[in-house]
Formats: sequence, structure tokens, C-alpha cells
Amino acid sequence: MAIVVVGHKNPDTDTIASAIAVADLWTKRGLEAKPIAQGEIAPETAFVLEKFGFSAPEVMTDATDQQIILVDHTDLSQSMDNLEKGEIVAVVDHHKLGDVSTPNPLEMWVWPVGCTGTVIKAMYDFYGIEMPKNVAGILLCAILSDTVMFKSVTCTDADKKAVEELAKLAGVSDVMALGMEMFKVKSAVDGASASELVFRDYKDFDMSGNKVGIGQLEVVDLSMLDAHKEALQAEIEKVKADGRHSVFLLLTDIMKEGSEMLIASDDASVVAKAFDGIKVEGNSVWLEGVMSRKKQVAPNFIKAFEG
Ligand code: MG
Ligand code: MG
Ligand code: MG
Repeated sequence: MAIVVVGHKNPDTDTIASAIAVADLWTKRGLEAKPIAQGEIAPETAFVLEKFGFSAPEVMTDATDQQIILVDHTDLSQSMDNLEKGEIVAVVDHHKLGDVSTPNPLEMWVWPVGCTGTVIKAMYDFYGIEMPKNVAGILLCAILSDTVMFKSVTCTDADKKAVEELAKLAGVSDVMALGMEMFKVKSAVDGASASELVFRDYKDFDMSGNKVGIGQLEVVDLSMLDAHKEALQAEIEKVKADGRHSVFLLLTDIMKEGSEMLIASDDASVVAKAFDGIKVEGNSVWLEGVMSRKKQVAPNFIKAFEG
């Protein structure tokens, strides 16, 4: 039975591209593997897969009796159901270490870089396996997406170097033009329901026993969300009411380099605690310079919930 390679719930481009690439790498190492997804792919990812000739991975959510490689996450709340009934054989990630554990030794590649794609580029080099052109293409897009075209504080020199090398392999001459094309697709919100938008890039966290959800929409111009804000606020209130302490939705303007955060919380004072006493008016707040959930938002809330 093929090893399944899986990224987080509410898959983003990195999660899907990394699952495809790691499955290719493992299969070429002689260990048959296949990429899967825990749900429908987002429009940005559909654009990237189509551009480089891939179809969306099969959806699978139960890990029972599977051998599994986790990419782009190690948090149980973001992973497959019944993970403990499967066997994790490897982890490839670029996040804080989550709460998965294994009874057996495993291969781990976890680096503090901007994208799982950057780690995977190094893995192909390490194993001396040639990366297919189309795999290089999707990993390149994953890095541009995760680092918001190098603007995110999560971006490292290793990510920039990987993009340079992947662009050569993929035959992409204008990396930034490809990035802008991708972010324009990502910004398209008309026609999508409020629920689709909230869950397009959404993660649940366990913060000191509180279930906290953080979603993010990255757009090239925040004003395009004006007509949707009321519906998005109502939607996160609904999501919060479903057993969560708080749900936050980051509306990130990638050109202005900041985020408006919509707030639904049992105790909104946690926002001021998380962001240095920032003044919240109504149920939203502007966070100047904040673009990364992983580095600039989730850790702040984790600390704020600790007390
Ligand atoms: Mg991801
Ligand atoms: Mg990632
Ligand atoms: Mg992201």
C-alpha cells in the first residue's frame, strides 16, 4: 500500500505542492507514495496545479492503518482523523513543532524557513534525485505564496535561494510576475460564500485548553473586501459559537503590508494582551506590518492565553 503524503486541513498551495513533491521524491527513492489532501483545494492552488499540469490530489481524511508522511504541519488539530491508528514515517515542515508523537523512529526535516517547499528542494539535493520541471514549478509557487513574494517576516535567505534555483529548473523567467498573477487569483472573492472565505485558509489551535481559530485572506487590495466584511464577521461569530473561545480573521493587504483582524471572542481583552495593549474599536483592529499568522499572530495569542 502506498504511503500517503498529507498536509494540513484547509489545504493551501504549500500543503498541496509539498504533498505532491514529497510523494514524487519518496517514490523515486523506491518507496511508493501518493499525495492526498484533507479537503478541496483553494482557487490559488487550482491555478498553480493547472499551470504546471497537475490535478488535485484525492481527498482522504482517515489515517487508520495508513503509513503517513506529514507535510506543512505537525498539529493534531490540523491533521487527519485517527492519526494514532496510522504510522507516521516522516515529517517535512516549517512550523513550530506541534503535538504529534510517534512510537517509532522517523525521518524528520523541520526547518525554520518560510515554506516547506524550501526544505523539499534541499531534500532532492540531499538524495541526489533530479526534480521534475513541473514539481519545481509548483514548489516555486508555494514559496512565493507562503512568503507573500518575499515580504513576510517568515522569509529567509534560504527561501530566496530556493526560488532562484527552482525558477531555473521550472523555466520561469519572471518570478514576480508569476507571483502577482497567483495573488490576483487568490484575491478573487466575489462569488464565494462567507463560509468558503473564512475557511479558505483557516487553522484551529489549542491554546491552554481553549480552542482558537485563526483564518486569513490575503488580497492585493483590502478595499475589495469592504462589501464582504459584515458577512465575514457574522460567519466567524457562527464558527466561534461552535465550541470555540475565539475566532480571528486576518484580512491581509499584501501591498500595504498589514492586516485588519476581525474578532469574535468570549473575551476580546485577549487581543490587547496579545498585541501590546493595542486599542480595539468595535470588533476589528488594524495590525500594521502584520502579515504572518505563524510568526506574528499565533504565538502572540498562545502567550496571551497562557496568562
Ligand atoms: Mg500551509
Ligand atoms: Mg507552509
Ligand atoms: Mg499562508
